Amino acid sequence: MTTAYLALGSNLGDRRRNLTRAVSVLAKTAGVRVLACSRVWETDAVGGPTQGRFLNAVVKVESHITPLELLARLQEIEFRLGRKRPAAKWAPRTLDIDILSFGRHRITSRNLTAPHPRMHTRLFVLIPLFEVAPRFVHPVLRKTVRTMIAETRKAIAADPARAHEGSVFPTCGGPWRTGRPASVVR
Ligand code: AMP
Repeated sequence: MTTAYLALGSNLGDRRRNLTRAVSVLAKTAGVRVLACSRVWETDAVGGPTQGRFLNAVVKVESHITPLELLARLQEIEFRLGRKRPAAKWAPRTLDIDILSFGRHRITSRNLTAPHPRMHTRLFVLIPLFEVAPRFVHPVLRKTVRTMIAETRKAIAADPARAHEGSVFPTCGGPWRTGRPASVVR
């Protein structure tokens, strides 16, 4: 059993519904148990062409399958929820699910890099991560999520070109319709 953290994002279609459905499909996925979900945060798109704002959330799961099997299940969920692939790297998307970390594993395979190479610089990931795992420590950088948030905020404040990255606001509720999915234990 391995604890993994997943980042969900949507900026196309019914964004909240996309996140809600993703979490409920995830909760029914064999070998995956959803342990906790952050609130949903609304954020400005980072990178790529001008596009609509994202809704983002982070989900903590217990995985009984390998990291590559988990990635395959997540990609199936992306497709099921209308994701078109291949799409331009930074194009708007109905649903994006990234593996932020998979236990303390360091993975550099052709299809998967974990910890996610940009997680420590993205407020839209770090802030919801803090909600589900305030004591999270980056397995490679050995930095707490609190430190990574502080460093990223500082870097954004020092760079006018990154100002939009500071636009990360909580919305009401999490990526579930009413209450928590049955498999959420805390
Ligand atoms: P994207 O189009 O942004 O969803 O990127 C998906 C691609 O990134 C897929 O081809 C994955 O194999 C690859 N990838 C590499 N590392 C990760 C990760 N940690 N989580 C999700 N996808 C990843």
